[in-house]
Amino acid sequence: MVQIDRMEIDDAGSDPKRLAKAILDQLPDDTVKIPVREIAKAIDIFEIREARLSGLEGALIVPLDKSEGAILINEDRHETRKRYTIAHEIGHYVHPFHRANSPDGFRCRAKDLAVEKAKPNDQHSRMEQQANEFAAELLMPAKSVAEFIRASGDADLANILELAQRHEVSREAAARRYIPRIGDPVAVVFSKAGVIRYARCNEFFPGLSVSRGQPVPQQSVSALSNASIGEVTDCIEVDGFTWLNDAAGVCLFEQTLAQQNGFRMTLLTAELDDADEEWDAPAFYGRR
Ligand SMILES: [Zn+2]
Repeated sequence: MVQIDRMEIDDAGSDPKRLAKAILDQLPDDTVKIPVREIAKAIDIFEIREARLSGLEGALIVPLDKSEGAILINEDRHETRKRYTIAHEIGHYVHPFHRANSPDGFRCRAKDLAVEKAKPNDQHSRMEQQANEFAAELLMPAKSVAEFIRASGDADLANILELAQRHEVSREAAARRYIPRIGDPVAVVFSKAGVIRYARCNEFFPGLSVSRGQPVPQQSVSALSNASIGEVTDCIEVDGFTWLNDAAGVCLFEQTLAQQNGFRMTLLTAELDDADEEWDAPAFYGRR
């Protein structure tokens, strides 16, 4: 049985990552799949009710002092989504500054659960962003993800799938956690029925030439692949201009995975010429 001392959480302050850490530190060391339901119970969430919710993903019903609470989640969702919603509501519950936006408690819509960057001067958006930051850290602790990446080698879609499975989170959530932590230039593009939904690039990746709402490039592996659903393709070298604004000096590799209902995930890996220049530098100085 999970036991959590709420005092430890109270002492963690208001930073979402520190709040998550205050909980993680109280779990057994070898915990990989975070037991969100047990954690909720251990901090006096007396019920997690699954119901058919219209317009809502989840809700947290609490008295003002947050001495106890109940969580409501949408029953029509995959377990990975339910786990994320519960973690998000726990975030509202433990955050010392979060106060409900209605007498019925915190009511969170799908778009609230997707807030990654708070709108300026918008308290609601800030609370949602913080609950999401908390949920991501709780379900996929940065330290654990970094260890996984170190052990798993080059960027690969198969690694993202494995990460998702390890932590029982959605593949998209795993990819968003994975991409910024890879040391080479990588990007992931999410599409549906051949139209780009959104993309995430890490800091090293050159500029993408495509954006939300545009078709997946015709010459891409993603457009041409006839691999079956669930089958990760090989990493294939493609013309850099297929995906990039400026492809000079870039070798680009593409790997893709078709998912249910027309969804697709594409991993782009770039090798930049810059690496060679850095390599040349010592020789140059050596000649002087
Ligand atoms: Zn929320």
